[in-house]
Amino acid sequence: MENQSENLTEKVVNLAKRRGFVFAGSEIYGGFAGTYDWGPLGVALKNNVIKAWTDAMQDHTNIVFLDSSIFTSGKVWEASGHVSGFSDPLVICNSCHEKVRADHLLEGIGVTADEKLSEEAINALFDENRSKLKCPKCGANDFGQVRAKNLLATSNLGMFESDDAQVYLRGETAQGIFINYKNVLDSGFNSIPFGIAQIGKAFRNEISPRQFLFRKREFEQMEMQYFLKESEAMEAYESWKNERLNYYYKLGIKKDKLRLKPHENLVFYAKAACDIEYEYPFGWGELEGIHYRGNYDLSQHQKFSGVDMSYYDEETKERYIPHVIETSVGVDRTVFMALCDAYTEDTLGESTRIVLKLPPKLAPVICAVSPLLKNKPDLVVKAQEVFRVLKKEFGRVMWDDNGNIGKRYRRQDEIGTPWCIVIDFDTLGEEHPELKDTVTVRNRDTGNQERVAITDLISKIKENL
Ligand code: ATP
Repeated sequence: MENQSENLTEKVVNLAKRRGFVFAGSEIYGGFAGTYDWGPLGVALKNNVIKAWTDAMQDHTNIVFLDSSIFTSGKVWEASGHVSGFSDPLVICNSCHEKVRADHLLEGIGVTADEKLSEEAINALFDENRSKLKCPKCGANDFGQVRAKNLLATSNLGMFESDDAQVYLRGETAQGIFINYKNVLDSGFNSIPFGIAQIGKAFRNEISPRQFLFRKREFEQMEMQYFLKESEAMEAYESWKNERLNYYYKLGIKKDKLRLKPHENLVFYAKAACDIEYEYPFGWGELEGIHYRGNYDLSQHQKFSGVDMSYYDEETKERYIPHVIETSVGVDRTVFMALCDAYTEDTLGESTRIVLKLPPKLAPVICAVSPLLKNKPDLVVKAQEVFRVLKKEFGRVMWDDNGNIGKRYRRQDEIGTPWCIVIDFDTLGEEHPELKDTVTVRNRDTGNQERVAITDLISKIKENL
């Protein structure tokens, strides 16, 4: 019964709601497409994902962090090409008015349609295959023309009646990095090669936000732009590709569910690009993009702002606009991957159970501490002592005295807690003095229990982290 992919999305969505990881956005008002709210355990899991990425970036001594604003001058998005070219091919079903992505419909019948195709080209491809295409909602074979739908979300922040400049919510965090590249450089800590990393919300008017956390309209990105000289770029691109794939292996994600996929059609300025894909329940999907973007972005901002973006290399006495390698991954897609990868139904002893086999590094709760019986004050006092010590050390520790021990184990299995620690009568040394000040540590994946001295608990957990 290990990890069946059939209905896995549905199972993960149900578990996520039942246990307080993720809720549908605006649920009490019937929902709001493309938005989700993070519950208590979801926040913890998301923070662990962010911490893992931050730690990996901080392993590099030449990567610094930035937190740029969500709102920027509209000119940023004109310069970046998002106003004119950031679109998806939209087609509407004439029968039920469902809005669908034309490239996804074509891919569904095995026709590769790059999302970057011109409106004319995708219409031609669509017309060629029109007779075979069915609406995913009502099944009708009756679509209108394909048109490019811009994905930027607009706003009126700071706009008054007399203003005609358009304001956008950022469609990616990367542009905040490009427009601050000079500021960071001039702040004096960096010389090329160096990277700027940023974590933050991005917004896109996705045509059909589906597949749970995979395609949202409000989501979070972790992006890093690595600035360097052209002659070193291709080698750095190869090295980032390997580093980022290895990062997921080290995180404990199943290797056979990850792959590197080179882009078949590069955008005109890109020199090389690939995606790290994960095999989600609905098929392979982009988790992270690794792009060698030439120096297009900085050149565009130089052109539109009139600010010199060049770098003077003191050693070689050269002046140039740096080239950029980008790594860009969604927090939401990482969390969805972690949940799918960990979701398991198995049999333990006599009973079947749902267990999230999350890597301890990502688990929202590292360990739960319980008194065997909650109405025995001696057990409770001792358990609270242990709880306080572990909480101070690890932070992500849960007090759990709800229901009987079996129920507590099931609940902790479902939220992926690697270790449950139970304080029982032996801990008090009542019947077996030799077991005094030892506790039961139960392993989530095997269900095995061992006796560990309270004084060894911290080192034992650290060993396994
Ligand atoms: P897709 O082709 O799936 O729409 P993309 O190529 O447009 O993705 P990028 O612009 O490269 O995505 O964004 C970088 C990363 O941001 C993606 O690899 C993904 O992890 C995340 N991301 C992009 N769009 C969304 C979204 N709508 N919801 C959640 N995460 C997203």
